[in-house]
Amino acid sequence: MSEATTTSRTADALVTRGASQPFERSTIERRAPRAHDVVIDIKFAGICHSDIHQGREEWGSALFPMVPGHEIAGIVSEVGSEVSKYSVGDRVGVGCFVDSCRECENCKAGEEQYCLQGEVPTYNGKQYDGEPTFGGYSTSIVVDENYVLGIPEGVELDVAAPLLCAGITLFSPLHHWEAGPGKKVAIVGMGGLGHMGVKIAAALGAEVTVLSQTTSKEEDGKKFGADHYYATKEEETFEKLAGHFDLIVNTVSADLPIDKYLGLLGLNGTLVHVGIPEGDSSYQAFSLAGMRRSMAGSKIGGIRETQEMLDFCAEHGLGAEIEVISVDDVDKAWDRVVDSDVRYRFVIDVSTFGSSAA
Ligand code: NAP
Ligand code: ZN
Ligand code: ZN
Repeated sequence: MSEATTTSRTADALVTRGASQPFERSTIERRAPRAHDVVIDIKFAGICHSDIHQGREEWGSALFPMVPGHEIAGIVSEVGSEVSKYSVGDRVGVGCFVDSCRECENCKAGEEQYCLQGEVPTYNGKQYDGEPTFGGYSTSIVVDENYVLGIPEGVELDVAAPLLCAGITLFSPLHHWEAGPGKKVAIVGMGGLGHMGVKIAAALGAEVTVLSQTTSKEEDGKKFGADHYYATKEEETFEKLAGHFDLIVNTVSADLPIDKYLGLLGLNGTLVHVGIPEGDSSYQAFSLAGMRRSMAGSKIGGIRETQEMLDFCAEHGLGAEIEVISVDDVDKAWDRVVDSDVRYRFVIDVSTFGSSAA
């Protein structure tokens, strides 16, 4: 096992310096590994719509310079002196947070994503000691072993990267609200999150319907395991499916007419929001009361559940559908995500830092 070095190291990174600024190739410092730290050579980083919301300050003011990226897959290159969970050469991932208080009731319950002191986000945040965090659009990262996931054999690193956010963000609510045989589940929006929702809900045995703006991606949706596919631009979809679903998971990054979607739930049905558009949403209490419906939200998943999700994906042969891009194509890719022109996740090949800029 290679000895951990005691100095910080420089990593290549894509940096944006403001909400309307393009990316530039630059370098950042990664801390020297502490006793429980794992140093990861990043191989692939997924592009999540949350990167764009934050990088463009759609969720309020952000910290710049910013290196986004919380769908990270790579190989362990060094370990601190007391690391027991990982060894050099292991295939690993990092998701949306890199630390949490470890003491609050939610952390103790393995729900670190709801840490009462606030978990430490992988980027656009600060460590508890005040150091800014930088994400996965970079060649390496140093993370405490307790916040690192193992990527099982059988799932390639490029298709694994998006599981670290998109995968767990759908797996967690589908589990919590018991998607499975006999349950009618709708996934709204078939982008990065949505297409993983279709695959996971189908693998859990639910009857899966995609509600997409148009039927242009119907063939893909059915290939991913959807039983039905409807266009939400067609008014008749809402008449035909009124009162139909037990569970609807909304992955849309823009505001939707919520009452119309609540109307698709049957008795005791639940609409879960995982998409987080900027601004406020509104709905009528009647839309809930009439059929004892619930409306809820869900945020990524804890470390234990994220590992369960990765193992589940390996067992069922699931990975993300990806378009691999170079580090110089990220600005264009962000625009394409905003235009719903993504099939179904952009993944940055971090080795392209090694090639000269276009
Ligand atoms: P994405 O790849 O852009 O997918 C969003 C999909 O929503 C699009 O592909 C499109 O699907 C649909 N859509 C977009 N604009 C729409 C509009 N104006 N009206 C109706 N449908 C529209 O984004 P993503 O990475 O999956 O992320 C989706 C949302 O989830 C973002 O807001 C993101 O910040 C949030 N998120 C939340 C969590 C969490 O923990 N809760 C985690 C990750 C991401 P169709 O073309 O099929 O209609
Ligand atoms: Zn994300
Ligand atoms: Zn906590």
